[in-house]
Amino acid sequence: MTEWPSEPQEGEAEPINWACTNCGYRVEGELPEKCPDCGEGKEMFDQVPVPGY
Ligand SMILES: [Zn+2]
Repeated sequence: MTEWPSEPQEGEAEPINWACTNCGYRVEGELPEKCPDCGEGKEMFDQVPVPGY
């Protein structure tokens, strides 16, 4: 049997930021329903790397 040490675990919270591609607003953690700044929907958000990780 071979183990897979680098297999990602589901349910584990990874440090993820979301950035609104319309206005540049950044959100930490969960993706909001819509941008609190410009009001665009969550489909306008892109995942961005978290600084410091
Ligand atoms: Zn926005």
